[in-house]
Amino acid sequence: MGEDLEKLKQRLPLLDYLRQQNWIARPAGHGSEFVGLCPLHRDTRPSFYVNARKNLFYCHGCGQGGDLVRFIQLSRRLSFHQSLAYLQQHEAAPADPAAVPEQVAVFYQQQLHRYPEARQYLKQRGLHDPGAIQELRIGYAPGGSLRRHLTTQGYSCDLLQRLGLLNTRGCDAFYQRIIFPCCHGGRVINLYGRSITAAVAHRFLPGSKGGLYAWEQVQQCPEVILVEGLFDYAVLWQAGFRHLTCSFGTHLSTHQFQQLCDRRRTVYLAFDVDANGSGQQAARQLAQRLRAQGITTRRVLLPNGHDPNSFFVQGGDAGQFQALLEAAQS
Ligand SMILES: [Zn+2]
Repeated sequence: MGEDLEKLKQRLPLLDYLRQQNWIARPAGHGSEFVGLCPLHRDTRPSFYVNARKNLFYCHGCGQGGDLVRFIQLSRRLSFHQSLAYLQQHEAAPADPAAVPEQVAVFYQQQLHRYPEARQYLKQRGLHDPGAIQELRIGYAPGGSLRRHLTTQGYSCDLLQRLGLLNTRGCDAFYQRIIFPCCHGGRVINLYGRSITAAVAHRFLPGSKGGLYAWEQVQQCPEVILVEGLFDYAVLWQAGFRHLTCSFGTHLSTHQFQQLCDRRRTVYLAFDVDANGSGQQAARQLAQRLRAQGITTRRVLLPNGHDPNSFFVQGGDAGQFQALLEAAQS
């Protein structure tokens, strides 16, 4: 029994279980602690702490604490033995393929705290605010551990290969990559992976990326800033800009283009200002096509050689970027 219980708790970490139950948390300071509203009492200020490393919780509001089984006992009002039975059944529930990207995103978010090289890379790319990293659900795929994590939850290797999470040799497809989940309709539907070691191209899982990044959050905005890359997006988010979206490159798909044109709005094009002029050429062409659809466009002129990411990495701030928006040419 004791060993089974330990295995069960390892297979289903407390934090994973809470997240499956839609518990929303943010990192509490450094390391492996998370805090959020307490699911066990009426909580108005986050007082429920989870230590992911120790796999334990404690609430400063109601004073309850313990492990996953204790949490099930309290939240479901079950006895210890009923809680174990509940957890075994919870684990044996048939695995829903549509839930996999969400689970992978959660897993990769947890890994970020375990790999200093990943956090170091984010810092190099100008991302240092743990709140922003948490809000964007940025994670890290070390490679070599996802397959075991998912197969112990009942997902078949065959399914994971079809989803593109494992390669044809059955190994993790994402290896030493920073991961951004792409959401649509409140679900994670794809994952973007950027290598932290090699200058290899970014990659996604096969299948839809869901159009423009986080489009649902800005669809109603009268003004939208469009950037090429997710690191551009992330530094602007960190600087407090919220009316943002990203097209994952300068060439928009038909769907992405239609999204920008679905109502009257102003689109600020904040593409790279690279030496060969390709970013600005793409911005000019896109502006022309958008204007033909009745969309107001403004080209944001960053200093030569910069994209929004490098602009912030080299010390640019929100006020300076705001000034560039105000000076943007039509
Ligand atoms: Zn509580």
